[in-house]
Amino acid sequence: MAVIITDTCISCDACLDECPTESIVDNDENPTGEDIYYVNRETCSECIADHDTPACAEACPTEGCIVWGDAPKTEGAAAGEPCIED
Ligand code: SF4
Ligand code: SF4
Repeated sequence: MAVIITDTCISCDACLDECPTESIVDNDENPTGEDIYYVNRETCSECIADHDTPACAEACPTEGCIVWGDAPKTEGAAAGEPCIED
C-alpha cells in the first residue's frame, strides 16, 4: 500500500517533513526519473499506525494531489480507478 503523488503537485515541500516514514522525495531524487515528487511504495504505510489519514495529504495544499485507495490517479482518470496495484 502507498499513496501516490499526482501531476498536480506544485513542489511546495509541505509534505516532506510530515511523513513519519520518510517515504517522500522531491523530483531530484525521484528514482523513476520523472520530474515529480515521489512516494516510496516499499516504506509508505499510508500512515495507518500514526494518523487517521495520510499526514502528507493533510499537509498538501493542492486538493486531489495525493491519492490512495480508490481515488483516481489523475484528474482525467475515471473515478474509482484503483491507484494501488499491489
Ligand atoms: S501516507 Fe504517510 S507514510 Fe505514506 S508518504 Fe504520506 S505521510 Fe508518508
Ligand atoms: S504537499 Fe502536495 S503540492 Fe506540496 S510537494 Fe507535497 S505533494 Fe506536492
